[in-house]
Amino acid sequence: MEISFANSGFVPAPEAVLRRGGAWRWRDLRVRYGVLRHPEQGLWLVDTGIGPQAVSAQGRGLALRAYAGALRYRLSAEGAPEAVLAQRGLHPRDVAGVIVTHFHADHVARLDAFPRARIVAHGPALTQIRAAGKLANLRHGVFPGLIPQGVEARLTCVTGLPHVALPHGLGKGADLFGDGSCVAVDLPGHAAGHFGLAFPGAGLLYACDAAWLREGLLPETAPGLPLRLVLEDRAAAARSAARVAAWQAAGGQVVLCHDPEPCAWDLPQTEAL
Ligand SMILES: [Zn+2]
Repeated sequence: MEISFANSGFVPAPEAVLRRGGAWRWRDLRVRYGVLRHPEQGLWLVDTGIGPQAVSAQGRGLALRAYAGALRYRLSAEGAPEAVLAQRGLHPRDVAGVIVTHFHADHVARLDAFPRARIVAHGPALTQIRAAGKLANLRHGVFPGLIPQGVEARLTCVTGLPHVALPHGLGKGADLFGDGSCVAVDLPGHAAGHFGLAFPGAGLLYACDAAWLREGLLPETAPGLPLRLVLEDRAAAARSAARVAAWQAAGGQVVLCHDPEPCAWDLPQTEAL
């Protein structure tokens, strides 16, 4: 299976907030999403990144406008899924499915571009979002308007899939393609239903938002209070970060959604320079 990550845009943040002991300099965080090409299952995305639906579209609610304005996202034209697919002679309708790691705006903003794709996500988290009031969702950084209506009809819930064992203390995870090539790993704490993806064949764990910077996985350089306040469950997030750090310490590779440093699986993008 081919695994790569594209960058949908950048979001500036001070390093001192992202990791304890960090400098007071601004870092341009990436907003990665994955592009998987599986020999039998076809073309899949891992999230869809940030997009105009969250950042600039007319008709956005006040809360979404305030969120996007405060975070100052900068979209990447060449990193948009449509552009990345077009570079490979592909079209959004060629996408067989989208694995949604969690429902934060910078992971689901472009979901509406894939109206026929299958969706793999944490079903109970979606049910919780649909049932929650505006304020409760806002408090967790979730904007239900970005999650297309009727997505439930295309949804496969990770919790219902067969589970397989993973190395380096990751425990068991949901076998998404039935061949052990892509396994959803529960990484609770960041957001409701948040999971990462292990690719055992590549020795890779896509730990998504288990930390914003790679250094943030370690307790001594984990983010301070301001960032921990946005977490769904701080204690669970610390345990998840420790499991990812243990995988890394055992020789596994880790990719995070937002780490500003390039990684071996990143698609080349000139805007990243
Ligand atoms: Zn997130």
